[in-house]
Amino acid sequence: MPGLIPKIRSLRSPRLPTGDKPSSDRRQLLLSNGVLRYELVRARRRSIAIQALQEGIRVRAPRWASIAAIESFMRLQEGWITEHLRLRRDTRPFSWNEGAELPLLGETVRIVATDAKAIRAADGRLEVPAGLLATGCREAVLGWIRERARALYAARMAEGAARLDVPMPRLRLSSARTRWGSCSHNPGGPRISLHWKLYLLPPMLIDYVIAHELAHLVELNHSRRFWAVVERLYPDYRAARPELNRLGRALPPL
Ligand SMILES: [Zn+2]
Repeated sequence: MPGLIPKIRSLRSPRLPTGDKPSSDRRQLLLSNGVLRYELVRARRRSIAIQALQEGIRVRAPRWASIAAIESFMRLQEGWITEHLRLRRDTRPFSWNEGAELPLLGETVRIVATDAKAIRAADGRLEVPAGLLATGCREAVLGWIRERARALYAARMAEGAARLDVPMPRLRLSSARTRWGSCSHNPGGPRISLHWKLYLLPPMLIDYVIAHELAHLVELNHSRRFWAVVERLYPDYRAARPELNRLGRALPPL
């Protein structure tokens, strides 16, 4: 029934004065996952457009469009808006200050200053010596994470290797750009590399990556036999892979 589809042009207000300048307004809209602050620009145009800019969301709308119409259009685009804001947040540098939140073993910890001499995680807090915080604690905290990661990975790997009845391989911490883990067979014996950032994710996912790399000690491919070995160590491996991708993408740029 094409006659029922309104032509966009027919929505244009006959009272629209010509040649006037766009005006801009800061507004808020409650979406299902929080309040969205956006800039509303009224301009000479026929349709509503949402723009994702580095500084936030800007909506451009005709002067005659009602707020209700604009906001119901925005609600339809909520998924897109949310995704954009998430990506934008992820590209901002992480601020290593008191109060900053970072993920650790799948939990969120808040950086707080302490009188103690060493970094310590407890009760949702990452306690950092005040002196370190004042001078920039990034290197110190990352060093602490790497140390903890190495110890945890080694323990989990030893357990998995024993269950597969293979000798414990050497462990290397990696900062690879695209891989959580890898397994190499060198003349000096097999070596498993695991990314230090895995330590930010839930322990279940760390175990999955370790199970995957340990299984490569038995099968050098991704054949069905390989996945059967993974399954012996980690029965729910099918669910772990998408979860690893999802949570991995959401990590802040430390
Ligand atoms: Zn693999």
